[in-house]
Amino acid sequence: MSVVSAARSGLRSAAAALAATTGGSGERGPKRSRPARYSAAGLIARGASGRTWPRAWRELPLQRSYDVVIIGGGVHGLATAYYLATNHGITDVAVLDKSYLGSGGSGRNTAIIRSNYLTPEGIAFYDRSLQLYRTMAVDLNINVMFSQRGHLTLAHTDAALRTMRWRAEVNKLQGVDSRVIDPATIERLAPGLDVSSRARYPILGALYHPPGGIVRHDAVVWGYARGADRRGVELHQRTEVTDIVVEGGDGPDGKGPGGRVTGVRTNRGDIATPIVVNCTAGWATLVADMAGVELPISTRPLQAAVTEPVKVFLPTVVVSGSLHVYVSQTDRGELVFGASVDPYNNYSVRGSLEFTEELASHVLALMPGLSKMRLLRQWAGLCDMTPDYSPVMGFTPVGGFLCDVGWGTYGFKAGPVSGETMAECIATDQTPKLIAPFALSRFAAGRLVGEKGAAAVGH
Ligand SMILES: Cc1cc2nc3c(=O)[nH]c(=O)nc-3n(C[C@H](O)[C@H](O)[C@H](O)COP(=O)(O)OP(=O)(O)OC[C@H]3O[C@@H](n4cnc5c(N)ncnc54)[C@H](O)[C@@H]3O)c2cc1C
Repeated sequence: MSVVSAARSGLRSAAAALAATTGGSGERGPKRSRPARYSAAGLIARGASGRTWPRAWRELPLQRSYDVVIIGGGVHGLATAYYLATNHGITDVAVLDKSYLGSGGSGRNTAIIRSNYLTPEGIAFYDRSLQLYRTMAVDLNINVMFSQRGHLTLAHTDAALRTMRWRAEVNKLQGVDSRVIDPATIERLAPGLDVSSRARYPILGALYHPPGGIVRHDAVVWGYARGADRRGVELHQRTEVTDIVVEGGDGPDGKGPGGRVTGVRTNRGDIATPIVVNCTAGWATLVADMAGVELPISTRPLQAAVTEPVKVFLPTVVVSGSLHVYVSQTDRGELVFGASVDPYNNYSVRGSLEFTEELASHVLALMPGLSKMRLLRQWAGLCDMTPDYSPVMGFTPVGGFLCDVGWGTYGFKAGPVSGETMAECIATDQTPKLIAPFALSRFAAGRLVGEKGAAAVGH
């Protein structure tokens, strides 16, 4: 019996007790009428007739109870809901977001997808995600514009080159296409890079990962939201979780290790539920604290910027770990730049001048020809950084409280596989093999999964 069905029996009485204090409606919303299917023929037909597209997902009243409550409407929360419904038939699920869907890192990232990580655990995990990205447009019936254009990680020092060789070998052993290439090959793949020996930080080689690329992040979020909604999941925007109700734990108010989740409190009333999943990335520790669970995570801002569009000249993604910068070019011709996280903990998502200055000098060290390009805008998002640059996934010492957090600067690419494995975890009450290495307990056991060499700037 799954943890969800086992918990269902006790749920209804908990729901009644909790709802009595809140006055929730208790009425289920309208079930989904079949949503419009996106297709070229549909586009032409609607263009010709002037009919508008229907809303992509429903707005429903909040219920008093659900089998599963997912906090966070980013790619992780939405993908978990989608796979719960699609792979396991669990549809009494609510995704709650304090803002709009995709308002966190999922709508702010630079959308780089790759699987050339450093550890065997990381590579196997991210490679499954890449496979899911390959079929996503068909699976979700939305054009996610996944472009496998190749990913280059530059080496400017002997030490960096050694790490690239190490990564290439581990990747090959895991069946992932990665290899070290020389400056002449780099120049062919990424015109505009200064590969001469006169460069301020000469390029000695690069790790080349042909399957890597970029995707349209908004479409991924909308695709999972629409797919989950279509299968009966409820999506509640502007619904902030303000507390998690835990009983029987060691800490104050019965929270903490040994306790069991019975519900959540929100700005729109209380909800009874036996399962709460924390998918809140930059806010992960604030939400885990509500259940009395301590996470080894700090929140850092990460900034990015985009230029005006120019003729497409850069067919690959280019990353320089040493210079703390990476760049890709969108189909519209804009250059998208990113860097490493700001060096302080903060919940602010404002851009800073320091970032722009540093970014410009590092980009020009790599690509002097860009000196006349103008930045259109810059922005920031929050990153939930763990000590080993690997996520925290699965069960916690509080029964019914699961985490899918610690996504740092690299979690967008992991959305599909995280959703798939978290859904399996909830439905089967077992930790899937693929995410076992990322358990919270690894920090107490001293079994870290060190990915810094492949995740610090690589995204
Ligand atoms: C500038 C930038 C560039 C990046 N580039 C890449 C990249 O190229 N490739 C890559 O793989 N990753 C990248 N990342 C990282 C990636 O964006 C994140 O790891 C990923 O989007 C996390 O997704 P998520 O669904 O876990 O969280 P989010 O998308 O952050 O969603 C969390 C949600 O939780 C909600 N929430 C928080 N607290 C509460 C509460 N109390 N109640 C209800 N809701 C709450 C928030 O409103 C938010 O919508 C980048 C991040 C940034 C900021």
